[in-house]
Amino acid sequence: MMAEFHVDMRDVRFALFDHAGIEALFSREPYREQSRADYELMLQEAEKLAREVLFPLNEVGDREGARWENGKVFLPTGFRAAFEKFAEGGWIALNQKPDDGGMGLPYGLTAAITELFTAANTAFMMAPGLAVAASRVIAMFATKEMADKCVVRMNTGVWGGTMCLTEPQAGSAVGDARTIATPLGNGVYSVVGNKIFISMGKQDVTENIIHLVLARTPGAPSGTRGLSLFIVPEYRINEDGSNGDFNDVHCARIEEKMGIHASPTCVMNFGDNNDCHGYLIGEEGRGIQYMFHMMNEARLAVGIQGAAAANLAYLTSVAYANERVQGSSVRNFRDPDAPRVRIIEHPNVRTALMEARAYAEGCRALVYRTAVWADRAETATDDKERQEFQGLVEVFTPIIKAYCSDAGLRATDLAMQTHGGYGYIREYAVEQYMRDVKIAAIYEGTNSIQAMDLLARKVARKNGQDFRTVVQYIDRFTREHKDHPTQASSVKALDAAKNTLVQATLSMAQYQLKADYEYPVLHCDNYLRMFGHVVLSWMLTEQAVLAHKKAQDLLAEDPTRTPESHPDLRYYEDKGRTARYFASQILPDVQAIFARMQSANTDALTAHF
Ligand SMILES: Cc1cc2nc3c(=O)[nH]c(=O)nc-3n(C[C@H](O)[C@H](O)[C@H](O)COP(=O)(O)OP(=O)(O)OC[C@H]3O[C@@H](n4cnc5c(N)ncnc54)[C@H](O)[C@@H]3O)c2cc1C
Repeated sequence: MMAEFHVDMRDVRFALFDHAGIEALFSREPYREQSRADYELMLQEAEKLAREVLFPLNEVGDREGARWENGKVFLPTGFRAAFEKFAEGGWIALNQKPDDGGMGLPYGLTAAITELFTAANTAFMMAPGLAVAASRVIAMFATKEMADKCVVRMNTGVWGGTMCLTEPQAGSAVGDARTIATPLGNGVYSVVGNKIFISMGKQDVTENIIHLVLARTPGAPSGTRGLSLFIVPEYRINEDGSNGDFNDVHCARIEEKMGIHASPTCVMNFGDNNDCHGYLIGEEGRGIQYMFHMMNEARLAVGIQGAAAANLAYLTSVAYANERVQGSSVRNFRDPDAPRVRIIEHPNVRTALMEARAYAEGCRALVYRTAVWADRAETATDDKERQEFQGLVEVFTPIIKAYCSDAGLRATDLAMQTHGGYGYIREYAVEQYMRDVKIAAIYEGTNSIQAMDLLARKVARKNGQDFRTVVQYIDRFTREHKDHPTQASSVKALDAAKNTLVQATLSMAQYQLKADYEYPVLHCDNYLRMFGHVVLSWMLTEQAVLAHKKAQDLLAEDPTRTPESHPDLRYYEDKGRTARYFASQILPDVQAIFARMQSANTDALTAHF
């Protein structure tokens, strides 16, 4: 069985152009010269590259995995050539400035293209994804001299990049890092320490690797305030930018793991021979702030990973359910000789497909919309507008990271179930999709860490102002569409769920005011899930309202059109069904979650384990 790459480009376009409204950017610098036609072409080319180059390597990468040999690491067969092709096409740094070797595209389009590539080959995307995220931190905060040497090379695939935070005792607690950086003068430090789980810490597709390492300078305060950020190249960088001496950076081994086998997860030793040079980025003690720029981008990328997996798994299971014949229709259950039917005819299979679709399309919508908000914040001409969009992006970043990664896992689970036994065996691709997406809930700060960030920081800070902006946006939408001809019930359910979210937020704030921090943490995952449900329902219902209008326009042009004769009409009608499905079948969970949060039950705190 050859796995097939499935993507619904119509949904990608609808989410990006119609729903997220990316074309609004064309009235702003630096996007005035860009057009929808350019973006359509880019999407078409990206889909081709995903389908023809990246996806065929997905299974190879999984089976072969990255290989460690005497400190060297080799990516699986075909990855090197694919990386070169990817770099040649300029696909690494889509939203970096052209002067920095980038394509100068907005983040909205970057998110859509990244989703296509990630769906095709998640493990492959770790190499370009980390390089570009690291290069951006260097461009923003390192010295001009260092930026001149590194940024273009990293953005064009000559050099790779990593983020090195984790140590054996410092995972979620990043501030417990012990790697030491001792000043040698002139911004150069001697770095000694051990980092673990470093993605792409060593590979064979770039000439040099620029590690961004969080380390502690001698006498620095404990916790994150004592951390500084360093550029630690695998090979020192000569004046002309060429590779100099080996910089005492060793990959001691790579981990065996559940998924993303083609992405080496490396144990990295810095300064085994006391000869590892690091170059300070910005100021001492501000490392975590700089690193957060990389982490926020990476968190959105992890959410994209969830959305990508959900969409691929969903469409793969639709294709399977349309072919697999098993059993007879439940309407004929008394007749053993009734005709056999395709499993897509079984109502329970349709429920699974519908749930997977709602997560897949809803998460895509949420990611693109937030990405375009990020672009609007960056291109805003007044401060109020900038702060409003920036606030939305900040509240939604932990939701996207955690909710979309959970949704990706759920959708792959539903896809596996739809495949029955064939889903569990290797020959069919969905088991790989499920294994590959699980990590998204863990790395870049576990989903619980995201939930705490949402509740304790993103919602609480600025006196709750960003949270209120989200509520106002939803209120405006529900007021405007409460009598909508096909979505009134979804709008009503959304309004009620949003009110519950507000109540839950106030209730958690009460605990925090009483200095009871344990109870909110007991429920932080519940809170994020509830918030995610509300936001997804909002996104799906907005899409449904838009789609309804477009369907009306199609019928106004030609009233004889039917969903059978016109695929766009069918697609738009289904948008309405997906929104109503989510609002009636999943959104009610918000009330159940709220009941759990209101229970005041603390048995988990007192239980013996
Ligand atoms: C495949 C893979 C790739 C990775 N890539 C990178 C990389 O490129 N760079 C890098 O630096 N790291 C990387 N990591 C590390 C990853 O980010 C960490 O594994 C993750 O942050 C969790 O840290 P930990 O494993 O130490 O778990 P722990 O921090 O020990 O967490 C264990 C559990 O306890 C919970 N927990 C921990 N602390 C708290 C707290 N204060 N409050 C509430 N709950 C808490 C967590 O949510 C989790 O459920 C990677 C990991 C893997 C597996």
